[in-house]
Order: sequence, then structure tokens, then C-alpha cells
Amino acid sequence: MAVTLIGAPYDAASSFLRGAAEAPAKIRRALFSPAGNLWTELGADLGALGVLNDAGDLTIPDDPAGARVAITSGVRAALDRAERPLVLGGDHAVTLPVMEAVHAVHGPVTILHVDAHPDLYNEFQGDRYSHACPFARIMEAGLARRLVQVGIRAATGHQREQARRFGVETVDMAAWTAGARPTLAAPLYVSVDLDGLDPAFAPGVSHREPGGLTVRDLIGLLHALPAPVVAADVVEFNPRRDVDGVTAVVAAKLVKELAGVMAAA
Ligand code: MN
Ligand code: MN
Repeated sequence: MAVTLIGAPYDAASSFLRGAAEAPAKIRRALFSPAGNLWTELGADLGALGVLNDAGDLTIPDDPAGARVAITSGVRAALDRAERPLVLGGDHAVTLPVMEAVHAVHGPVTILHVDAHPDLYNEFQGDRYSHACPFARIMEAGLARRLVQVGIRAATGHQREQARRFGVETVDMAAWTAGARPTLAAPLYVSVDLDGLDPAFAPGVSHREPGGLTVRDLIGLLHALPAPVVAADVVEFNPRRDVDGVTAVVAAKLVKELAGVMAAA
């Protein structure tokens, strides 16, 4: 099924640093760079006609409520065309309005959420729609069947309580290192916060948290996903924090492999 890139250049919900709104253009440039090609590791040619569409960037207003409406309706339009949206963030706040569209079309699906942080705060700095809160809103609203988090290594006591309250399944970095892997069932939504990777591989993020996944760990996880993956996002790339463009290339690589998995079945 066709996969459609949708840019969500929005970073007004970031608690610490702006800059993630500049990510979609940088990811596209790396993805379509003549330095690489559009064949995935599993043998899919994303350059073949009709496999990978690009809907461009959404026009997103500054006000948070208006931004959520714009993101939900942009993603809904792609779903209504029977495409699989792959959203390029933006900060992690974009996942809530994306999931509202996904829920409206597919019902409650399982979410695989890769991140250093659980993003389960009830509110952060007075903002219930902060990029630190999207999965609390998603679980409260019943938008997901299951929430499975991988790569966690910066959970506070409050967020651990929230995870218990919402029945979140967590494979934190200690468990991952001990060999634990998530058990997933389709249909799936995949949300990749680039700070789930170790900052040695992806320094271009607002919240660097050492001790994370390798790029190969994450690609292996993506390649093993059950089908279908009905929609996904890659968020929290902050080009202002990047070092010689390496994080842009990592983000583009993940987008490519994820798009290949989404297109396959
Ligand atoms: Mn996050
Ligand atoms: Mn994070």
C-alpha cells in the first residue's frame, strides 16, 4: 500500500528548545540525496512509481488547538485516500493529533513508541499538550489498544505511576540490554522519537540522554514488525543541535526502512 510522507513542522509544544520544526525539510533532503538510493535493506524500491508519495508540509498555525486540528485533518486526508501516512515531525506533541486521525479510521491500534522518555506527564510546565504529555492524552482518550514503549531511560516517579495507571508495557534500556524484546500485534502505529537512539548516533535532538539504542537495534526492531503498520511518525529531530548533518541521515535512514515495512503489506 502507498506510503505518504507528511511534514508537520511544529515545535511550539517543545519544553526546552525550539528547532524541530526545521526537521522535515532536512529529512527529505537526506532521503532524496544523490549520496544514497531509495532501496531498502529488505529489497523494496521506494523510488518505484506509487510506492512513496510526498504530500509536502502541512500549514500549521501557531495556536496549539488550531495546530492539532490542522495535523489531524492533514493525516485524515491521506488515510481517506487509503494511504499510509508517515509523519515527519516536529516535536512529539504531533503524535496526539495524528493518533486522533488514525483512531477515527482504524479504531484503537497498538502503538510501538521508541523514546528515551515515556512522554506520560499529566501536564508539563502547565501545558497538557506539551511534547512531554502526548501519550497521557492518547491513553486517557482510549486511542490505543496497547502502548508498548522501548528505549526508556529517563522515567520520573510520576511517569512510572502514569505507566502503571494506563497499563503501559515498557521495555526500558536495562531490560533491552538484558535481552527483552516487545511482543507486538498488528495493526500497528509506530512513533519514533530520535532521542530513543543513543546521542552518539543521533546528537541532533533537544534532550540528549546517553545509554540508548543503536541505529542497528532500531532497524532490526522495525524490520521485525508484524504487518500492517498503518501509520507512523519520526519526531524530535532538531537540526539546530545536529553535528555535520549526521542525525539528518539517521532520520532519513529510519524513514526509508519504516516506509519499506509500511509499504510491504
Ligand atoms: Mn518523545
Ligand atoms: Mn524523548
